[in-house]
Formats: sequence, C-alpha cells, structure tokens
Amino acid sequence: MPIAICCDFDGTITLMDTGKALLSNLTKEDWQAVDKFVINGQIGTREALIKQWGMIEHTTWEEIFTIVDMIKIDPSFYDFYNWVIQKNLKFIILSDGFHKYINRILEDHEIKAKSFDILANDVDLVDNRLKLSFNTPECDHGCANCKYSHVLKLKNEGYKIIYIGDGLSDILPAAELADIIYAKKNEDLANKLEGDCRLQIFDNFSDIQGDIEKRLS
Ligand SMILES: [Mg+2]
Ligand SMILES: [Zn+2]
Repeated sequence: MPIAICCDFDGTITLMDTGKALLSNLTKEDWQAVDKFVINGQIGTREALIKQWGMIEHTTWEEIFTIVDMIKIDPSFYDFYNWVIQKNLKFIILSDGFHKYINRILEDHEIKAKSFDILANDVDLVDNRLKLSFNTPECDHGCANCKYSHVLKLKNEGYKIIYIGDGLSDILPAAELADIIYAKKNEDLANKLEGDCRLQIFDNFSDIQGDIEKRLS
C-alpha cells in the first residue's frame, strides 16, 4: 500500500507557531481569547482567523517578513526532508496558515518547496489590511483549510496515512483517518489523543524518521 505523509507546518516543522508570533507582534487586542472559543468547539478556525487577523489594523509586508524571518524550523527536518526525497515518499504539508509565510520560511532555510505539495490558505494586503482567502469551501467543521477533506481524498485514493502534527486543526484528520499518528510532545494533539494505539509522541523529526524506517524495514 502506498504511503502518504501528511504534515502540519506551524509548531510541527517550525519551532514556533508563525500565526501566533505575527498576532502577538501586530495587534494589542486579545486574539488569544478567540483561540479559547476554538478549543471549546464554539467556533471553527475559519471564523477564528477572520476575527484574529481582522484585529491587525495596519501592517506592511516588510513588517510581516521581519517577524517571519525570525521563525526557525526543527533542525532535524533537513535530514527528514532529504530522506523523504531519497525514498520517493509522498509528502504533503497541510496548513491552516498561509502560503505567503510558509514559502518564505522554507526559502529562508533553503528548502525547495517545489519538491512537495503545500496546501494552505492565501493572504494578501489591501490598503495595509490583510485579506484572507481560504483553500477549501466551507465545511461542517468550520475549517479555514479543511485538512480532513485533503486527507480523506488521499485515503480514498488508497494511501496509508501517516499524520504528523501538533495542534487543534490536526485532531480531526488524525483521529478519523490516520493509520499512524506522530504528535508533538505536550501539545493539543498529543493530549487529546492520549491512549490511542496509533499515537507516537515525538520531540523532533529524527524520532519520526527512525520510527518510520523501522516500520518500513
Ligand atoms: Mg501546528
Ligand atoms: Zn473541515
């Protein structure tokens, strides 16, 4: 059975969540309060992103990229990424964040984004305000970019699903569709799925690579 590795970006490949870093720096409003509504299941991430990014009243790309350029990726992701290419495994980045900063961060770290699919939302700047456009149509979960629908498509195409993630937007696709789940230590995904027999806790990408290699051999 072919394997698809579905991987979250923020907080999984990066050491810090880019969206949170941007909001912390660009607005004084209480954007964290909106996250609590998502955690409680009152709203989906689509509504949350509209509310939170709407709190930024004025910004520029220069200001945004100054913050984005400080985001670091997990150093062990390089080896993992080279290994994925060498093994010719299907690798997809699924993000509820935005192409604009994902591509920038990968470029900053000299990772060729063209080697794999990146499914994320888009953002533009109109009169110094952020204008969001979402990757998938509205779904029952209220997702900005419905990771569930992307993973379901791969599963229906016959792929065995390896899911790597950390946060709230990873819970549904991992819990419902994954064959193996790698969840970042001490984060929402790991906490929520505690006790699930498919769950492997990871600290960095060398843990994941080691475990997948063991399973493939
Ligand atoms: Mg994340
Ligand atoms: Zn959805």
